[in-house]
Amino acid sequence: MQVKCPYCSMPFALTNEQITEAIEIFKKGESTHFDAHCPKCRHTTKVSKEIFELNPVYKNMMKG
Ligand SMILES: [Zn+2]
Repeated sequence: MQVKCPYCSMPFALTNEQITEAIEIFKKGESTHFDAHCPKCRHTTKVSKEIFELNPVYKNMMKG
């Protein structure tokens, strides 16, 4: 899954591990966003649950 850093505009991909981690967080209701770290500037980018839900596969995993 591609996200774009709002600080330096660097597009980067979340790893499958990060996606799994994010979905677990959403399933447990711990947060409504996942903190992704930009590989270039190291800023934290918040990726909201809604962004993940745009992907039917991830949406299905969240229902789990
Ligand atoms: Zn960045």
